[in-house]
Amino acid sequence: MAAFEQPVEPSSNISSSSSNNIPDYEFMNLNSTPFHIGSFRDEWLERLKPEDFSFQPGDQDSFEARFAAAMGVGEETMTELRSVCSVDSLLCHSGDQERDPEVVPPNTTLKTLTHRKKKNKTQKCTRNRHDLYADELDRLTAGRLPDTKANQLPEGELILTINIYFPGTMEKFNHLRPHTTLLMTGSHTLAELRDAVCCVSDLQVCGEFSSTPDMAPDFMSKDLFKSAYFFFEGVFYNDMRYPECQDISSTTIDWAKSHNYPPFSTAKMEDTRLVDLKVKVGFPYLYCHQGDCEHLVIITDVRLAHHSDCLDTDLYPLLTHKNRLMTQKCSVCHVFIGRWYTTRDQFAPSDPCLFCDKCFRMLHYDKEGKKLGDFLAYPYVDRGAFN
Ligand SMILES: [Zn+2]
Ligand SMILES: [Zn+2]
Repeated sequence: MAAFEQPVEPSSNISSSSSNNIPDYEFMNLNSTPFHIGSFRDEWLERLKPEDFSFQPGDQDSFEARFAAAMGVGEETMTELRSVCSVDSLLCHSGDQERDPEVVPPNTTLKTLTHRKKKNKTQKCTRNRHDLYADELDRLTAGRLPDTKANQLPEGELILTINIYFPGTMEKFNHLRPHTTLLMTGSHTLAELRDAVCCVSDLQVCGEFSSTPDMAPDFMSKDLFKSAYFFFEGVFYNDMRYPECQDISSTTIDWAKSHNYPPFSTAKMEDTRLVDLKVKVGFPYLYCHQGDCEHLVIITDVRLAHHSDCLDTDLYPLLTHKNRLMTQKCSVCHVFIGRWYTTRDQFAPSDPCLFCDKCFRMLHYDKEGKKLGDFLAYPYVDRGAFN
C-alpha cells in the first residue's frame, strides 16, 4: 500500500478537541480519522484571525513585534535573528566574486547547495532532467498571481494535495508506485478531478484499422465509454454528466448487498465538491474508469491557501509531480514512440510489431494511401505518452 511508503501527516495535530471534524491519527504516521473537509475548514477559519490567512503581505514591523511577544524574546535577540535570517546570508559568493546562478561554488557552506550538488551528481547517470525535477513542478507556479482579480483564489480557500496512482498492471509496479500529484481547491468537483487524471486507457483505440488508418482517432475509449466512479468512505461517486453514462458501481453495490457487507451509497461526482467529502487523509481510495482501470487515490494534505501558493484559479488543478514512464520505440527507426502495432504482417521483423506513424505509413501504404500487402493494424497508445 502506497501509504506505507509515504507516511503523511494529517493536516492537524489538534487531537484534544471533541469535534469529529478535526482529524487525528487513526494509524500513526499513516492516515487520519475520517472528517468532513468543509467543516474542517470552518474550524480553522473560526480559530484564525483574518490576517493569518490573508494573501496581503503583512507589515514587517508589526509582524516582528507579534513574533517577539509570542516568543518572549527581547530586542537584542531580535537584532541577532534579523542578521542571521537575513536573505543576504544565503549568498554563497563573496562581494567581489562574479555571480553565476548555474555554478555551485566548490566550498559552499549552504546546506541546500551542497545537497543539490550531491543530488545532481548521483542522479546524473540514471535520471534525466524530467526525473530530476519531477517533484518540483510547483516551483514554476509558486506565488503566481492571476491577470485579473476575478481569477484570484479567494482567501480562506482550501488546497488539497491528491496523489493519483497508476493502475498496478505491471509486475514492477509492486515495487515502484508511479503517480501524479495534483493540487486542487476545495470548490473543485470530483468531475474536475476526473478530467485532470491522465490515464492511457482513456486514449486506447479499439479496432483494426489497416484499411482506414486515418479513421482511428475517432474511436477513442474516452469518448465511447464515459462511465467512471470515485469511491470515498462508503460512497460511490458516479460520473453521470452524459446521457450514455451508466452507474457502473451498481454491480459492486449489489454484490456487497448479497454478501452481507455494510451498505454502500451513491452520489454524482459532478455534484460533489471536494469540500463536501468526508475522507481520511493518507488513506487509499479508488478511482475506476474504462470498466476496470483502477487507480488508488490518496489525499495527502488538506490545508488553507497561503499567499505563496499559486493564486491563479485558472492554473488549478495544478500538477506538481509526474512520474515518467519508459516508452516503447518504433522497431524500425528506434527513435519515435510506437503508434501502431501490426500482426500477420509480411513486412514486419516480428509478430506483433510496433511502428511509429511515419514508418508504419511508409512501409504499408503507397503514395496514394493504398494498402500494400496483407496485415492487420491496431492503434497503440504508449503509457509514456504523457511524459
Ligand atoms: Zn486508468
Ligand atoms: Zn519509426
